[in-house]
Amino acid sequence: MIPFEEARNRILARVAPLGGERVPIFAAAGRVLAEEVRAPADMPSWDNSAMDGYAVRSGDCAGPAALKLTGYRAAGDAADPKVTPGCAVKIMTGSPIPEGCDAVVPFEETEESGGFVRIRAAVKPRAHIRFRGEDVKAGDRVIPAGTVLRPPEISMLASFGKAFVPVYRKARVALLSTGDELVELGEPLSPGKIVNSNTVSLAAAIEEAGAAPVLLGIAVDDKECLRGKIREGLAADALVTSAGVSAGDRDFVREVLAELSVEEVFWKVDIKPGRPTAFGMKDGKPVFSLPGNPVSSLVTFEVFVRPALLKMMGHPEPQKRLVKAVLKEPIRKKAGKAHFFRVRVAVEEGEYAAWMSGDQNTGILRTMVLANGIAVLPAERTDFKAGEKIDVCLLYQSATPN
Ligand code: AMP
Ligand code: MG
Repeated sequence: MIPFEEARNRILARVAPLGGERVPIFAAAGRVLAEEVRAPADMPSWDNSAMDGYAVRSGDCAGPAALKLTGYRAAGDAADPKVTPGCAVKIMTGSPIPEGCDAVVPFEETEESGGFVRIRAAVKPRAHIRFRGEDVKAGDRVIPAGTVLRPPEISMLASFGKAFVPVYRKARVALLSTGDELVELGEPLSPGKIVNSNTVSLAAAIEEAGAAPVLLGIAVDDKECLRGKIREGLAADALVTSAGVSAGDRDFVREVLAELSVEEVFWKVDIKPGRPTAFGMKDGKPVFSLPGNPVSSLVTFEVFVRPALLKMMGHPEPQKRLVKAVLKEPIRKKAGKAHFFRVRVAVEEGEYAAWMSGDQNTGILRTMVLANGIAVLPAERTDFKAGEKIDVCLLYQSATPN
């Protein structure tokens, strides 16, 4: 058995970023840029007005002044009426500064009547002008490869006229549930049968990580059936199976993976929940065998699968950073394994605070539903006191406390 940090390191050492693809910019949010993008031109591309007001020659306005209005320039206008001494042009935000002008006076500081504009106070040169290239200069390396595209990057790429952007490919993740007791959602249940909820929960987790689930359905605990489905799954970028990986006499997943020459990198990790997790590689593709328990499968997905998928999709920091939270109640656990406790995290007086979300038994899904974090309690420790700071992994964006 190995510690989970080592297990995760082995996984991350084995998976590599997938290739790139070009996607429409409308589909690029959250994707990782695969190639550096440089500014194709100065932004803004010309000196323009930062305010609605009047473009003037500052030399005419050493103090209060009355200037003759000789033009009007709306945003989007291209005409360039030259402004001669003693004159001004009405100008809207974003319009190019007319030739001859070197400042803009906002409406609020003027009065207009009878074809003249009265300026109340002295105007400094360069006032209220956005200068060509002051945002970015042509050739600037504005967005490095490996950047996760957020609305600000999307905004900049769009302003460069990029309708398509080069991003890392989405990982296609095959998902296989195994077990004789499973029935697909919507099919009638009979005594002893349960809904295959892992396919649904893990598909959601895969999507939440930005990858694309490929549903293989259920394989019964039969080697022939498993072989067929696993072979199918190996065509994807990664394969995630659930259940059938413990030491039960119908747990055939590892055996079948070995038959299909999937190299087993590890089996069994010093953690609770999730101990029987296995990980293997086949032709550069990762194969995760998660335990069947719905809580264990989600926790091990978070700890092992999510970082691997993020690395494959080009994320520069595939491992979620843990936060420190003040433990609000004492916790006791056995020594020997790291424990992942389901916790409720909130912000108290500017610090994260964490409470157990309830019963930590692996069979209790309710407390996973109540949790928005997983406390990572080190293997060697047993007693955690109220008031001490513990490491917590915040789960899922929508559950992050403010
Ligand atoms: P196993 O890993 O096969 O020993 O399964 C552990 C527990 O998880 C058992 O109670 C299974 O019934 C349950 N389980 C296994 N697969 C699924 C699944 N796809 N959806 C929901 N529960 C499952
Ligand atoms: Mg089973």
